[in-house]
Amino acid sequence: MENDCLFCRIVAGEIPATVVRETETTLAFRDIAPKAPVHVLVIPKEHYADVVTLTEADPGLAGDVLGTAAVVAETEGLVADGFRLIFNTGPYGGQEVFHAHAHVLGGEPLGPMLAR
Ligand code: 5GP
Ligand code: ZN
Repeated sequence: MENDCLFCRIVAGEIPATVVRETETTLAFRDIAPKAPVHVLVIPKEHYADVVTLTEADPGLAGDVLGTAAVVAETEGLVADGFRLIFNTGPYGGQEVFHAHAHVLGGEPLGPMLAR
């Protein structure tokens, strides 16, 4: 646990979140500022700054994050129509919270991959 990390504090229960799924190693909760009708964040409970650090240190845990994201997509009813799974990484990727997380986005056509 990193004391100043927002998502570690959500894992610790210090900051409330609307949890949609929890496993031994991962947590999925609704984004506080949803960009689509369904916008869920999936994180490893253990702190890693981004998806690269996570995958290098613990590929199995990275797989757990993908597994939880897939189950969330199923339970949120996104699989038939499709959805988007995003790991914003670093400054060019627009990452704002430096605890690795996947965005599960869907519920309507999401448009082009990048706004240009
Ligand atoms: P990033 O830009 O790092 O990929 O995404 C961070 C996400 O975290 C943003 O979509 C933002 O809305 C979300 N977020 C920021 N603070 C909170 C919070 O306190 N609770 C929840 N549930 N989501 C948050
Ligand atoms: Zn953290």
